[in-house]
Amino acid sequence: MAMPEEGWVMDADVIIVGAGPAGLMLAGELCLAGARPLVLERQPRLRETPRASGFNGQIVELLRYRGLLDRVEAASGRAVHPAPGAPFGGMHLDFSRLADPPIWAVPLPQPRLERLLGERAGELGADIRRGHEVAGASQDDATAAADVHGPDGSYRVTARYLVGCDGARSRVRDAAGIAFPGITYPEVNRLAQASLPDSVTRLDNGDLDVPGLGRIRAGFTRTGRGVFAFGSLTHGNVLIQTTEDEPAEVSDDEPITLAEFQDSIRRVLGADLPLAEVTRLSRYGFAARQAERYRDGRILVAGDAAHQFPATGIGINFGMMDAVNLAWKLAAVVGGKAPAGLLDTYHSERHFAGARALLQTQAQVALRRGQDPAAEALRELFGELLADDQPLRRLGTLIAGTSIRYPMPGPSQHALAGTFAPDLILHTGQGTTSVADLMHAARPVLLDLADRQDLREAARDWQYRIDIRTAQTDHRPADAVLIRPDACIAWAAATGEPAGTAAPALREALSRWFGTP
Ligand SMILES: Cc1cc2nc3c(=O)[nH]c(=O)nc-3n(C[C@H](O)[C@H](O)[C@H](O)COP(=O)(O)OP(=O)(O)OC[C@H]3O[C@@H](n4cnc5c(N)ncnc54)[C@H](O)[C@@H]3O)c2cc1C
Repeated sequence: MAMPEEGWVMDADVIIVGAGPAGLMLAGELCLAGARPLVLERQPRLRETPRASGFNGQIVELLRYRGLLDRVEAASGRAVHPAPGAPFGGMHLDFSRLADPPIWAVPLPQPRLERLLGERAGELGADIRRGHEVAGASQDDATAAADVHGPDGSYRVTARYLVGCDGARSRVRDAAGIAFPGITYPEVNRLAQASLPDSVTRLDNGDLDVPGLGRIRAGFTRTGRGVFAFGSLTHGNVLIQTTEDEPAEVSDDEPITLAEFQDSIRRVLGADLPLAEVTRLSRYGFAARQAERYRDGRILVAGDAAHQFPATGIGINFGMMDAVNLAWKLAAVVGGKAPAGLLDTYHSERHFAGARALLQTQAQVALRRGQDPAAEALRELFGELLADDQPLRRLGTLIAGTSIRYPMPGPSQHALAGTFAPDLILHTGQGTTSVADLMHAARPVLLDLADRQDLREAARDWQYRIDIRTAQTDHRPADAVLIRPDACIAWAAATGEPAGTAAPALREALSRWFGTP
């Protein structure tokens, strides 16, 4: 527990506002890194509102690196699998023909993900208080504080830092005076998972034949009054979505009725679509916004509080990856071991990642919303480009966030620096292991892949802060890699790089990321 002044014990090292995927992941990772988080969540119980039906992208690999994928698969009841395709601005990306799938998907509904992350954080020692709403956040030179309305009344908690993981309408962000510029699109999307009655015929190619309406193509149909989309799910269910222009901002959390959904279908298609059993209904709007700064002194933001993307399917990945990037840096600061400037790299790296996600999701808006001949031409040309594997794969890695390379400080960096560490199979004197296995404990690792005694020697002063491992791998990408707890490669030695340049560069990287020994 951190003590800012003699005799004054704080309630926690880090206050986290919000127990969504970002806040709960942050809590677990902070515990792994040795810090004491306190999570304050206004909802008294785990959320049941259906939001995401699953998630995908880089976070899937990270969860595997933490040894959590078995648990995720058990909660999902299904194996993590390569995504056969993805929607992109009203078009369909078909990944099934690619040999190396660019996106891995987890079909785990958000409430179950939150349960799992909450259980894990609790097991690791996080204090999670549900039914405790944060009314205000403030800071001074030494502390951050939250004013809380709990079931037993109002109180104040203090910590060294406070992180707003409180969603798109973040009160913490506002309290810190962090601007959230961007645009909210004047449209509303309504989504249902349903089965269809016998009167609706499903044709062999996936299209629907609807009495009184005729044939509706699988995928996206523009009608001039909006967009109607549907796709097949397992067990004969379909996912149906309407998109209509509506000037008023919509609330994602307000419940939607079946009548509202059917009215929307009638407006868009001009006729009714009979539905049998409806198992899920939701409504959401689209905005493209990014917090100007992810940090203001002792207050930081992560997840939807830091960014909102105008396309589905990526919010959980980017929010949880924010948390993974932030946790070890915050823990190093509260533990008094952080080098100067470490915490600021959270903004420079994750704001950059969020901007890349905004780039591809904004491009989707241009593809999806345009109604004039120029927009038609854009869609047609884009469709032609998607016939080639390379642009298809590139878009897949953009959606997944796997092509992100953080800008790394320092001259002439190795091409691996700033990228997510690949899961190399490692042969050691004690048997075979892997990069994924080494990352379970979320500790930094210097991985010597070429028996480089000079580099092991250079890192010796840091041996209590980092794990130093020697191994062989079949296709060696570098002589050595320094891997941060978030699995990002902080530094790498080129094959055969002389000790005279590699050893000082390694020491500099170690100081930069893990402080003076
Ligand atoms: C219909 C719908 C479908 C979606 N589908 C997908 C999908 O398929 N895949 C995907 O990746 N993403 C999807 N998303 C997006 C995804 O749900 C979000 O990106 C994700 O929930 C963001 O996580 P978060 O932890 O940042 O914030 P949130 O999940 O919004 O959590 C914020 C938490 O903070 C709490 N809170 C807020 N204010 C306070 C306060 N003052 N005091 C205390 N607690 C507070 C809230 O109660 C909430 O629990 C979907 C969203 C919607 C609406």
